[in-house]
Amino acid sequence: MSQSKPPINWLPAIVLTATPIAALILIPWYAMQHDFSTAAWVLMVVFLYMNGLGITAGYHRLWAHKAYEAHWSVQIILMLWGTAAIQNSILNWASGHRTHHRFVDDVDKDPYSAKRGFWFSHIGWMLRDYPSGTPDYSNAPDLLKNKVVMFQHKHYLALVLLMNFAVPMLIGYLINDFWGGVLLVGLLRLVLSHHFTFFINSLAHMWGKQPYTDENTARDNFWIALLTYGEGYHNFHHIFQYDYRNGVKWWQFDPTKWLILALSWVGLASNLKRIPNFTIRKAELLMQFKRAQQQLEQKSSKLPHVDIEALKQRIALEYDAFVATMNEWGKLKEEWYAEKKQAVMQKWEDASFKTRFNEMEYRLKMQNKRMQLLMQQMMLPQVTTS
Ligand SMILES: [Zn+2]
Ligand SMILES: [Zn+2]
Repeated sequence: MSQSKPPINWLPAIVLTATPIAALILIPWYAMQHDFSTAAWVLMVVFLYMNGLGITAGYHRLWAHKAYEAHWSVQIILMLWGTAAIQNSILNWASGHRTHHRFVDDVDKDPYSAKRGFWFSHIGWMLRDYPSGTPDYSNAPDLLKNKVVMFQHKHYLALVLLMNFAVPMLIGYLINDFWGGVLLVGLLRLVLSHHFTFFINSLAHMWGKQPYTDENTARDNFWIALLTYGEGYHNFHHIFQYDYRNGVKWWQFDPTKWLILALSWVGLASNLKRIPNFTIRKAELLMQFKRAQQQLEQKSSKLPHVDIEALKQRIALEYDAFVATMNEWGKLKEEWYAEKKQAVMQKWEDASFKTRFNEMEYRLKMQNKRMQLLMQQMMLPQVTTS
Protein backbone atom coordinates (compact mmCIF):
# COMPACT_ATOMS: atom_id res chain seq x y z
CA MET A 1 0.00 0.00 0.00
CA SER A 2 2.56 2.51 1.13
CA GLN A 3 3.75 3.97 -2.10
CA SER A 4 7.03 5.63 -1.32
CA LYS A 5 6.12 9.09 -0.05
CA PRO A 6 8.57 11.95 -0.37
CA PRO A 7 10.89 12.37 2.62
CA ILE A 8 9.69 14.37 5.62
CA ASN A 9 10.70 18.02 5.83
CA TRP A 10 11.90 17.79 9.39
CA LEU A 11 12.17 21.41 10.44
CA PRO A 12 8.68 22.56 9.30
CA ALA A 13 7.21 19.22 10.42
CA ILE A 14 8.58 19.65 13.94
CA VAL A 15 7.56 23.31 14.19
CA LEU A 16 4.06 22.68 12.83
CA THR A 17 3.47 19.67 15.06
CA ALA A 18 5.18 20.78 18.25
CA THR A 19 3.71 24.28 18.49
CA PRO A 20 0.00 23.31 18.56
CA ILE A 21 0.70 20.44 20.97
CA ALA A 22 2.70 22.71 23.25
CA ALA A 23 -0.05 25.36 23.11
CA LEU A 24 -2.77 22.82 23.96
CA ILE A 25 -0.87 21.55 26.98
CA LEU A 26 1.05 24.52 28.35
CA ILE A 27 -1.57 27.26 28.12
CA PRO A 28 -4.41 25.54 30.05
CA TRP A 29 -1.87 24.11 32.48
CA TYR A 30 -0.40 27.51 33.24
CA ALA A 31 -3.84 29.20 33.29
CA MET A 32 -5.03 26.78 35.96
CA GLN A 33 -2.38 27.91 38.37
CA HIS A 34 -1.89 31.55 37.42
CA ASP A 35 -3.93 34.05 35.55
CA PHE A 36 -2.84 35.58 32.32
CA SER A 37 -3.01 39.36 32.38
CA THR A 38 -5.52 41.23 30.21
CA ALA A 39 -2.59 43.03 28.62
CA ALA A 40 -1.14 39.71 27.45
CA TRP A 41 -4.46 38.71 25.84
CA VAL A 42 -4.82 42.08 24.13
CA LEU A 43 -1.25 42.02 22.86
CA MET A 44 -1.76 38.47 21.63
CA VAL A 45 -4.56 39.74 19.36
CA VAL A 46 -2.58 42.81 18.29
CA PHE A 47 0.45 40.69 17.46
CA LEU A 48 -1.75 38.17 15.64
CA TYR A 49 -3.08 40.95 13.45
CA MET A 50 0.36 42.35 12.79
CA ASN A 51 1.59 38.91 11.72
CA GLY A 52 -1.43 38.40 9.51
CA LEU A 53 -1.02 41.76 7.83
CA GLY A 54 2.70 41.13 7.38
CA ILE A 55 1.73 38.08 5.34
CA THR A 56 -1.27 39.52 3.47
CA ALA A 57 -0.13 43.10 2.83
CA GLY A 58 3.57 42.19 2.63
CA TYR A 59 4.31 38.63 1.50
CA HIS A 60 1.16 38.32 -0.58
CA ARG A 61 -0.04 41.56 -2.13
CA LEU A 62 3.24 43.52 -2.16
CA TRP A 63 5.89 40.91 -2.89
CA ALA A 64 4.10 38.01 -4.58
CA HIS A 65 1.73 40.12 -6.70
CA LYS A 66 3.29 43.59 -6.88
CA ALA A 67 -0.22 45.01 -6.38
CA TYR A 68 1.32 48.25 -5.07
CA GLU A 69 4.65 49.78 -4.16
CA ALA A 70 5.73 50.47 -0.59
CA HIS A 71 8.21 52.82 1.02
CA TRP A 72 11.32 51.03 2.36
CA SER A 73 10.28 51.71 5.95
CA VAL A 74 6.94 49.96 5.34
CA GLN A 75 8.77 47.10 3.66
CA ILE A 76 10.97 46.60 6.73
CA ILE A 77 8.00 46.59 9.09
CA LEU A 78 5.98 44.20 6.91
CA MET A 79 9.03 41.99 6.55
CA LEU A 80 9.47 41.79 10.36
CA TRP A 81 5.76 41.16 11.01
CA GLY A 82 5.72 38.53 8.26
CA THR A 83 8.85 36.87 9.62
CA ALA A 84 7.13 36.49 12.98
CA ALA A 85 4.46 34.35 11.32
CA ILE A 86 7.07 31.66 10.44
CA GLN A 87 5.88 30.87 6.93
CA ASN A 88 9.30 30.66 5.31
CA SER A 89 11.20 33.57 3.75
CA ILE A 90 9.48 36.08 1.48
CA LEU A 91 11.47 34.79 -1.48
CA ASN A 92 10.34 31.17 -0.96
CA TRP A 93 6.78 32.11 -0.11
CA ALA A 94 6.19 34.57 -2.94
CA SER A 95 7.87 32.44 -5.57
CA GLY A 96 5.78 29.41 -4.51
CA HIS A 97 2.67 31.56 -4.50
CA ARG A 98 3.28 32.77 -8.04
CA THR A 99 3.49 29.09 -9.03
CA HIS A 100 0.19 28.48 -7.21
CA HIS A 101 -1.52 31.14 -9.34
CA ARG A 102 0.08 30.02 -12.56
CA PHE A 103 -0.82 26.35 -12.15
CA VAL A 104 -3.78 26.64 -9.78
CA ASP A 105 -5.40 23.25 -9.02
CA ASP A 106 -2.81 21.34 -11.04
CA VAL A 107 -2.05 18.29 -8.89
CA ASP A 108 1.54 18.10 -10.08
CA LYS A 109 2.53 21.73 -10.32
CA ASP A 110 0.43 23.77 -7.87
CA PRO A 111 2.42 23.55 -4.58
CA TYR A 112 -0.78 23.50 -2.52
CA SER A 113 -3.37 22.28 -4.97
CA ALA A 114 -6.80 22.04 -3.33
CA LYS A 115 -7.50 19.14 -5.69
CA ARG A 116 -5.22 17.07 -3.45
CA GLY A 117 -7.58 17.52 -0.52
CA PHE A 118 -8.05 19.67 2.57
CA TRP A 119 -5.17 18.26 4.57
CA PHE A 120 -2.64 18.59 1.78
CA SER A 121 -3.59 22.17 0.82
CA HIS A 122 -3.84 23.28 4.45
CA ILE A 123 -0.63 21.93 5.91
CA GLY A 124 0.41 18.62 4.33
CA TRP A 125 2.27 20.28 1.47
CA MET A 126 4.82 21.71 3.92
CA LEU A 127 5.44 18.50 5.84
CA ARG A 128 7.12 16.54 3.07
CA ASP A 129 9.50 17.29 0.27
CA TYR A 130 6.95 17.09 -2.56
CA PRO A 131 8.32 17.77 -6.06
CA SER A 132 5.55 20.40 -6.47
CA GLY A 133 7.10 22.32 -3.59
CA THR A 134 10.66 22.51 -4.91
CA PRO A 135 11.64 26.18 -4.93
CA ASP A 136 12.27 27.74 -8.32
CA TYR A 137 13.18 31.39 -8.13
CA SER A 138 13.16 31.88 -11.89
CA ASN A 139 9.69 33.44 -11.50
CA ALA A 140 10.98 36.02 -9.01
CA PRO A 141 13.83 38.02 -10.56
CA ASP A 142 12.38 41.19 -9.01
CA LEU A 143 12.59 39.70 -5.52
CA LEU A 144 16.16 38.48 -6.02
CA LYS A 145 17.02 42.16 -6.51
CA ASN A 146 15.02 43.47 -3.53
CA LYS A 147 17.32 44.35 -0.62
CA VAL A 148 14.73 43.84 2.14
CA VAL A 149 13.68 40.47 0.70
CA MET A 150 17.24 39.23 0.32
CA PHE A 151 18.30 40.48 3.76
CA GLN A 152 15.44 38.51 5.31
CA HIS A 153 16.25 35.42 3.21
CA LYS A 154 19.87 35.49 4.39
CA HIS A 155 19.14 36.08 8.05
CA TYR A 156 15.83 34.27 8.24
CA LEU A 157 16.54 32.05 11.25
CA ALA A 158 17.95 34.88 13.36
CA LEU A 159 14.97 37.08 12.53
CA VAL A 160 12.51 34.28 13.34
CA LEU A 161 14.11 33.79 16.74
CA LEU A 162 14.13 37.51 17.38
CA MET A 163 10.45 37.94 16.56
CA ASN A 164 9.23 34.74 18.21
CA PHE A 165 11.33 34.57 21.37
CA ALA A 166 13.07 37.88 22.08
CA VAL A 167 10.10 40.13 21.28
CA PRO A 168 7.42 38.12 23.19
CA MET A 169 9.78 37.81 26.17
CA LEU A 170 10.43 41.53 26.08
CA ILE A 171 6.69 42.19 25.88
CA GLY A 172 6.10 39.84 28.82
CA TYR A 173 8.77 41.61 30.82
CA LEU A 174 7.34 45.06 30.03
CA ILE A 175 3.76 44.16 30.96
CA ASN A 176 4.89 42.32 34.06
CA ASP A 177 3.50 39.01 32.82
CA PHE A 178 6.52 37.16 31.47
CA TRP A 179 4.71 33.89 30.80
CA GLY A 180 1.75 35.74 29.34
CA GLY A 181 4.21 37.21 26.85
CA VAL A 182 5.86 33.87 26.07
CA LEU A 183 2.77 31.64 26.00
CA LEU A 184 0.10 33.95 24.59
CA VAL A 185 1.96 36.53 22.51
CA GLY A 186 4.62 34.00 21.54
CA LEU A 187 3.06 30.56 21.27
CA LEU A 188 -0.72 30.87 20.97
CA ARG A 189 -0.41 33.77 18.55
CA LEU A 190 1.89 31.72 16.32
CA VAL A 191 -0.40 28.68 16.22
CA LEU A 192 -3.51 30.77 15.46
CA SER A 193 -1.63 32.84 12.91
CA HIS A 194 -0.50 29.66 11.15
CA HIS A 195 -3.88 28.04 10.82
CA PHE A 196 -5.81 31.21 10.01
CA THR A 197 -3.55 31.93 7.06
CA PHE A 198 -3.44 28.27 6.00
CA PHE A 199 -7.21 28.49 5.53
CA ILE A 200 -6.56 30.64 2.47
CA ASN A 201 -5.01 27.68 0.67
CA SER A 202 -7.45 25.09 1.95
CA LEU A 203 -10.94 26.41 2.84
CA ALA A 204 -10.83 29.38 0.46
CA HIS A 205 -10.51 26.85 -2.36
CA MET A 206 -13.43 24.75 -1.12
CA TRP A 207 -16.16 26.67 0.66
CA GLY A 208 -17.99 29.68 -0.75
CA LYS A 209 -19.29 31.35 -3.85
CA GLN A 210 -17.81 31.78 -7.29
CA PRO A 211 -19.18 35.10 -8.58
CA TYR A 212 -16.35 35.86 -11.00
CA THR A 213 -15.06 32.60 -12.42
CA ASP A 214 -15.55 28.86 -12.10
CA GLU A 215 -12.42 28.02 -13.97
CA ASN A 216 -10.57 27.27 -10.74
CA THR A 217 -11.55 26.15 -7.24
CA ALA A 218 -11.08 29.55 -5.53
CA ARG A 219 -14.10 30.86 -3.59
CA ASP A 220 -15.36 34.08 -2.05
CA ASN A 221 -16.30 33.62 1.59
CA PHE A 222 -17.01 36.33 4.17
CA TRP A 223 -16.34 34.02 7.14
CA ILE A 224 -12.92 33.10 5.84
CA ALA A 225 -12.23 36.80 5.12
CA LEU A 226 -12.96 37.52 8.79
CA LEU A 227 -10.21 35.15 9.89
CA THR A 228 -7.75 35.95 7.14
CA TYR A 229 -7.52 39.74 7.17
CA GLY A 230 -9.60 39.99 4.02
CA GLU A 231 -8.09 37.22 1.92
CA GLY A 232 -11.32 35.21 1.93
CA TYR A 233 -12.45 36.86 -1.29
CA HIS A 234 -10.29 34.39 -3.08
CA ASN A 235 -12.44 33.89 -6.18
CA PHE A 236 -11.98 37.56 -7.09
CA HIS A 237 -8.30 37.30 -6.21
CA HIS A 238 -7.63 34.37 -8.52
CA ILE A 239 -9.17 36.06 -11.55
CA PHE A 240 -7.69 39.53 -10.85
CA GLN A 241 -4.56 38.75 -8.85
CA TYR A 242 -2.87 42.11 -9.44
CA ASP A 243 -5.58 44.15 -7.75
CA TYR A 244 -4.48 45.43 -4.34
CA ARG A 245 -7.96 44.55 -3.05
CA ASN A 246 -9.29 41.04 -2.50
CA GLY A 247 -12.64 42.21 -1.19
CA VAL A 248 -13.22 44.52 -4.13
CA LYS A 249 -16.60 45.96 -3.06
CA TRP A 250 -16.25 48.83 -0.64
CA TRP A 251 -18.29 47.02 2.00
CA GLN A 252 -16.37 43.76 1.87
CA PHE A 253 -14.28 43.05 4.98
CA ASP A 254 -10.71 43.45 3.84
CA PRO A 255 -8.48 45.10 6.47
CA THR A 256 -5.45 44.49 4.24
CA LYS A 257 -6.86 46.72 1.50
CA TRP A 258 -7.76 49.37 4.11
CA LEU A 259 -4.21 49.30 5.44
CA ILE A 260 -2.72 49.68 1.95
CA LEU A 261 -5.15 52.49 1.10
CA ALA A 262 -4.38 54.30 4.37
CA LEU A 263 -0.65 53.96 3.68
CA SER A 264 -1.19 55.51 0.26
CA TRP A 265 -2.96 58.49 1.82
CA VAL A 266 0.12 59.31 3.88
CA GLY A 267 2.48 58.72 0.97
CA LEU A 268 3.94 55.40 2.19
CA ALA A 269 2.35 53.28 -0.54
CA SER A 270 1.90 54.13 -4.20
CA ASN A 271 0.85 52.77 -7.56
CA LEU A 272 -2.10 50.83 -6.12
CA LYS A 273 -3.38 48.57 -8.91
CA ARG A 274 -7.12 48.45 -9.50
CA ILE A 275 -8.91 46.40 -12.11
CA PRO A 276 -11.43 48.71 -13.88
CA ASN A 277 -14.99 48.36 -12.59
CA PHE A 278 -16.23 47.64 -16.08
CA THR A 279 -13.96 44.61 -16.38
CA ILE A 280 -15.12 43.34 -13.00
CA ARG A 281 -18.81 43.73 -13.87
CA LYS A 282 -18.21 42.03 -17.17
CA ALA A 283 -16.72 39.00 -15.42
CA GLU A 284 -19.66 38.87 -13.02
CA LEU A 285 -22.20 39.03 -15.83
CA LEU A 286 -20.47 36.41 -17.93
CA MET A 287 -20.57 34.15 -14.89
CA GLN A 288 -24.29 34.84 -14.44
CA PHE A 289 -25.05 33.99 -18.06
CA LYS A 290 -23.04 30.82 -17.78
CA ARG A 291 -24.90 29.82 -14.67
CA ALA A 292 -28.31 30.68 -16.10
CA GLN A 293 -27.54 28.53 -19.10
CA GLN A 294 -26.38 25.60 -16.95
CA GLN A 295 -29.41 25.83 -14.69
CA LEU A 296 -31.80 26.04 -17.60
CA GLU A 297 -30.35 22.93 -19.11
CA GLN A 298 -30.43 21.08 -15.81
CA LYS A 299 -33.95 22.05 -14.87
CA SER A 300 -35.63 22.21 -18.25
CA SER A 301 -37.15 18.78 -17.72
CA LYS A 302 -38.61 19.74 -14.34
CA LEU A 303 -40.22 23.07 -15.25
CA PRO A 304 -43.26 23.47 -17.49
CA HIS A 305 -42.36 23.90 -21.13
CA VAL A 306 -43.82 27.44 -21.40
CA ASP A 307 -41.72 28.78 -18.58
CA ILE A 308 -38.54 27.46 -20.04
CA GLU A 309 -39.14 29.03 -23.44
CA ALA A 310 -39.99 32.41 -21.89
CA LEU A 311 -36.94 32.29 -19.66
CA LYS A 312 -34.71 31.32 -22.53
CA GLN A 313 -35.96 34.31 -24.49
CA ARG A 314 -35.42 36.72 -21.63
CA ILE A 315 -31.90 35.47 -21.08
CA ALA A 316 -31.18 35.69 -24.81
CA LEU A 317 -32.40 39.31 -24.81
CA GLU A 318 -30.21 40.12 -21.84
CA TYR A 319 -27.28 38.54 -23.56
CA ASP A 320 -27.86 40.61 -26.70
CA ALA A 321 -27.97 43.75 -24.59
CA PHE A 322 -24.73 42.67 -22.95
CA VAL A 323 -22.97 42.13 -26.29
CA ALA A 324 -24.23 45.52 -27.50
CA THR A 325 -22.78 47.25 -24.43
CA MET A 326 -19.47 45.46 -24.94
CA ASN A 327 -19.27 46.63 -28.55
CA GLU A 328 -20.15 50.18 -27.65
CA TRP A 329 -17.54 50.15 -24.92
CA GLY A 330 -14.92 48.90 -27.35
CA LYS A 331 -15.72 51.69 -29.82
CA LEU A 332 -15.71 54.38 -27.14
CA LYS A 333 -12.35 53.14 -25.92
CA GLU A 334 -10.91 53.36 -29.43
CA GLU A 335 -12.24 56.89 -29.85
CA TRP A 336 -10.78 57.89 -26.52
CA TYR A 337 -7.34 56.47 -27.36
CA ALA A 338 -7.35 58.20 -30.74
CA GLU A 339 -8.13 61.57 -29.19
CA LYS A 340 -5.57 61.04 -26.46
CA LYS A 341 -2.91 60.13 -28.99
CA GLN A 342 -3.47 63.33 -30.92
CA ALA A 343 -3.33 65.17 -27.62
CA VAL A 344 -6.16 67.40 -28.76
CA MET A 345 -8.51 66.38 -26.00
CA GLN A 346 -9.90 69.29 -24.04
CA LYS A 347 -10.75 68.91 -20.41
CA TRP A 348 -14.48 69.00 -21.07
CA GLU A 349 -14.11 66.33 -23.76
CA ASP A 350 -12.27 64.08 -21.34
CA ALA A 351 -15.04 64.64 -18.82
CA SER A 352 -17.72 63.79 -21.35
CA PHE A 353 -15.87 60.58 -22.22
CA LYS A 354 -15.81 59.73 -18.53
CA THR A 355 -19.55 60.27 -18.28
CA ARG A 356 -20.14 57.94 -21.20
CA PHE A 357 -17.85 55.29 -19.70
CA ASN A 358 -19.68 55.62 -16.40
CA GLU A 359 -23.01 55.27 -18.17
CA MET A 360 -21.98 51.97 -19.63
CA GLU A 361 -20.62 50.76 -16.35
CA TYR A 362 -23.98 51.62 -14.81
CA ARG A 363 -25.75 49.71 -17.57
CA LEU A 364 -23.81 46.58 -16.63
CA LYS A 365 -24.60 47.14 -12.98
CA MET A 366 -28.32 47.30 -13.71
CA GLN A 367 -28.10 44.28 -15.94
CA ASN A 368 -26.41 42.41 -13.14
CA LYS A 369 -29.35 43.26 -10.88
CA ARG A 370 -31.87 42.13 -13.51
CA MET A 371 -30.06 38.84 -13.97
CA GLN A 372 -30.01 38.26 -10.23
CA LEU A 373 -33.73 38.91 -10.08
CA LEU A 374 -34.36 36.64 -13.00
CA MET A 375 -32.47 33.84 -11.31
CA GLN A 376 -34.41 34.37 -8.10
CA GLN A 377 -37.70 34.28 -9.98
CA MET A 378 -36.65 31.02 -11.53
CA MET A 379 -36.02 29.87 -7.95
CA LEU A 380 -32.58 28.92 -9.05
CA PRO A 381 -29.65 29.51 -6.79
CA GLN A 382 -27.56 32.30 -8.21
CA VAL A 383 -24.28 30.69 -7.33
CA THR A 384 -23.50 27.18 -6.33
CA THR A 385 -21.76 26.39 -3.11
CA SER A 386 -20.21 23.07 -2.73
ZN1 LIG B 1 -5.38 30.33 -4.05
ZN1 LIG C 1 -2.35 35.42 -4.51
